[in-house]
Amino acid sequence: MPMKVGVARESAAGERRVALVPEALGKLTAAGLEVLVEAGAGAGAAIPDAAFADAGARVVSADELYATSDVILRVQKPAGADAARLRSGQTVIGLLQPLLDPPLMQTLAAAGVTAVSLDAIPRTLSRAQTMDALSSQANVGGYKAVLIAANTYGRYFPLLTTAAGTAKPANVLILGIGVAGLQAIGTARRLGAVVSAYDVRPETAEQAESLGAKFVRLKTSIDATGTGGYARELTPEERAAQQAELNEVIANQDVVITTAQIPGRKPPVLVTAEAVGAMRSGSVIVDMAASALGGNCELSRAGETVVTDNGVTIVAPENLPASMPSSSSLFYARNISALLLNMVKDGNLALDFEEEVTKSTVITHGGAVVSEAVQKLLAPAGGNA
Ligand code: NAD
Repeated sequence: MPMKVGVARESAAGERRVALVPEALGKLTAAGLEVLVEAGAGAGAAIPDAAFADAGARVVSADELYATSDVILRVQKPAGADAARLRSGQTVIGLLQPLLDPPLMQTLAAAGVTAVSLDAIPRTLSRAQTMDALSSQANVGGYKAVLIAANTYGRYFPLLTTAAGTAKPANVLILGIGVAGLQAIGTARRLGAVVSAYDVRPETAEQAESLGAKFVRLKTSIDATGTGGYARELTPEERAAQQAELNEVIANQDVVITTAQIPGRKPPVLVTAEAVGAMRSGSVIVDMAASALGGNCELSRAGETVVTDNGVTIVAPENLPASMPSSSSLFYARNISALLLNMVKDGNLALDFEEEVTKSTVITHGGAVVSEAVQKLLAPAGGNA
């Protein structure tokens, strides 16, 4: 019997993405897999059930999907009712955020579910690039953040000379030059803004400059290159030095887009209330790092738009990829298909824990939490280690 791969309908509020799109189905069926799609799964991304059926999937009810699938593909972690439906021997693959929700991993492990998380992909392994959903979704986010900024800003981004006068180009600062930051630089440049950018990993200077941004060099040189291509958290001394200098730079910007993250931790505050207070009326901040954990701007409120007393608008969108669901789902579908096929042999799931991607992304298996990072977070004395 062919292995059944089920595509779940997302249940998180505001989520419009879907884990698989019809274009991505061929590769899975060619590998001998049967694809089931929960009715309505593609609706948020404007993909009708019939499009999945035409591509060779069987559209089924949620009950059938959860009862019969060997592997469930999803975008976000299963919450509440969806998590309770998963059963022993089943595998669930998605952006499960295991470091932010270790108790869910424990629940899945106890239920005998194998949990595979795309956010645990080794980022610097070139073979894993096609599976890198963090990158594909951050790319969409970086692009959309600039569009939101341009839409919110009451002036032009480009230099414009007209019979009615000349518009000065907008000064746009990008804080955090990872995947989202690089896309934001490119997008803001294409709109004609004057772009500068800053990151604590020095290697990003050249990347930013190659896209036409000016790299902000602080007098206090900080190298916070961490492991796996990520940044480490700054020491309190480094933070204070960075803040004082950044405040001056921020005060001269029309638009600030922040993208800085530390995996599994609260994002660093880069734009303080004081810095916002020194910005000109009409300026815009888009905080891409904002979530329930906090954001890069001290005054941002996740999911809301705040206008300060001095006239600065702070937008803190929570799920930018979901606001461009067709593109983000298309890219995500390629990522998750590549990850799944990396774990399939002769039409069946064959987990090889010696293989780097499998070793990194499988969080629970055989009734236990197998990810060391999650085990540490769950250890009673380990606390926030
Ligand atoms: P991320 O979302 O974790 O962070 C975004 C950026 O914020 C990072 O560049 C980080 O250095 C920066 N940052 C963190 N703290 C900061 C602070 N206090 N001040 C200023 N900036 C701060 O990063 P990401 O976009 O997910 O990228 C993670 C890494 O993975 C990067 O090194 C990226 O180049 C790498 N990557 C590699 C490949 C590949 O080699 N094929 C593919 C994709 C991503």
